[in-house]
Amino acid sequence: MNITEPSFDEAEIALLRECLDSKWVTQGPFTERFERLIAEKHGVKHALACTSCTAALHLATLALKLGPGDEVIVPAFTWVTSAHSAEYVGAKPVFVDIDLSTFNIDPERLEAAITPRTKAIVAVHLFGLAAPMDEIKAIAEPRGIGVIEDAACAIGTTYKGRPVGAIGDIGCFSFHPRKAVTTGEGGAVTTNRDDLAERVRSQRNHGSTGAPDASIEPHGPWTMATFDNLGFNLRLSDIQAAVGVAQMGKLDRLLSERRRLGHRYSELLAGNNSIVRPLGGDVDGHAFQSYVIRFVDGDRARRNAVMATLAAAGIQTRPGTHAVHRLGYYKNKYGLRPEQFPNAALAEDTTITLPIFPNMTEEDQRRVVDCINQAST
Ligand SMILES: *Cc1c(COP(=O)(O)O)cnc(C)c1O
Repeated sequence: MNITEPSFDEAEIALLRECLDSKWVTQGPFTERFERLIAEKHGVKHALACTSCTAALHLATLALKLGPGDEVIVPAFTWVTSAHSAEYVGAKPVFVDIDLSTFNIDPERLEAAITPRTKAIVAVHLFGLAAPMDEIKAIAEPRGIGVIEDAACAIGTTYKGRPVGAIGDIGCFSFHPRKAVTTGEGGAVTTNRDDLAERVRSQRNHGSTGAPDASIEPHGPWTMATFDNLGFNLRLSDIQAAVGVAQMGKLDRLLSERRRLGHRYSELLAGNNSIVRPLGGDVDGHAFQSYVIRFVDGDRARRNAVMATLAAAGIQTRPGTHAVHRLGYYKNKYGLRPEQFPNAALAEDTTITLPIFPNMTEEDQRRVVDCINQAST
C-alpha cells in the first residue's frame, strides 16, 4: 500500500487531449482556467500558477522585496523549502519551535523571535491544519511584517471558516503528488494585493514588464516586451494546467474523502494510548493532506520499529517531516544545535505519516491500524 495515490480518471485524459490538440502547451488558456478555479476556491483576487510551491515561496519572497539584512521567521518543523525561500533572496531564516499538539508554529515563541530586522513570517499550515493566523497577524500587522502562508499542504484547509491562502499577504500552494491535488509538479501564488500579483506575474516570466508605452513607438509585430526586473522562468505548462483543471473539478470530493478517512483513522486509533492522534476531530478545518501520529514516549527507535513492522506488511509510511535546523545546510551555516528547537526535533523523531488517499478502502485502513496497534501496544 502506497502512502498516497493521485486520483486520475477520464477527466484528466480528456483535458490533456484537448490541450495537446490545441497545440498550445506552455502557459496559456488552461493555466488561466486553472488559476480562476484556484482563486474561486480560496476566495482570492489573484491566483498565479507556477512550477512548484517552492517556486511560489521564492516568488513570494521576491514580491515582498526581502533581501540581505532581512530576517524571515520559519517554523523549525516543515519542508525544507519553507526556509530555502529566504535563502534564495539572501535573507536569513530565523527558526521558531512548534506546538507539538498542532505541529504548527508556537505563537509565544514566535513573538520572542521578532527583531527590528524581521520582515516576514512564513506561516506553514502543516499537514493541512491551519497555523494560528490570528496570533500571527496580531504580531505581524502592527510591526509591518509580511505574512507568507505556506499552504503547500492546505488546499481546502479553512481557518475559523475561511479558506487559507489569503489570510496573510500572500499564499503558496503545491500540486506535488503528495498533496491533495496534483499536476505532477506545480504550484500557485494567491493574493488579494494587486502590487504583489503584478510582481509575481513579472518574476515568473523572466522579469517581463509587458510592452513598452506606445507613445515611444506604435505597437506592431516589431513590439517586444521590456524587462525591467531580473526574473525567472517559473511558468506552469498548459499540459500540467489541463490536469489541474480536471483535478479542481473533483476537488470537493477529494477533500471530503480525505476528511472522512482522517476522522475514521482517529476513531480506529482511539484506544491506542501510546500515540497522539492529530487534532482534527475538534478542528473542522483540517484537510488531512497528511495523517500524522506521534509516539508519546519520545523514543525514535520505537517509532522506527513500528515503521519497520508496517513496511514488512507492505505498508509505506514516512516520518512527518524535517526538523529543518538539524539539516546540514542550516546547521552548518548558522551553527544551530538540535536542542534549540526540541519540539521540532521530537516531532521528526517520533512521528509517522500514515497512508491516506481518496481510493483507500475501509479494509486498507483497518489493516494499517491493526498493524500499528499490534506493533505499539
Ligand atoms: C510540499 C511542501 C512544499 C514544497 O512543495 P513543492 O511543490 O514540492 O515545491 C513546501 N512547503 C511545505 C509545507 C510542503 O509540505
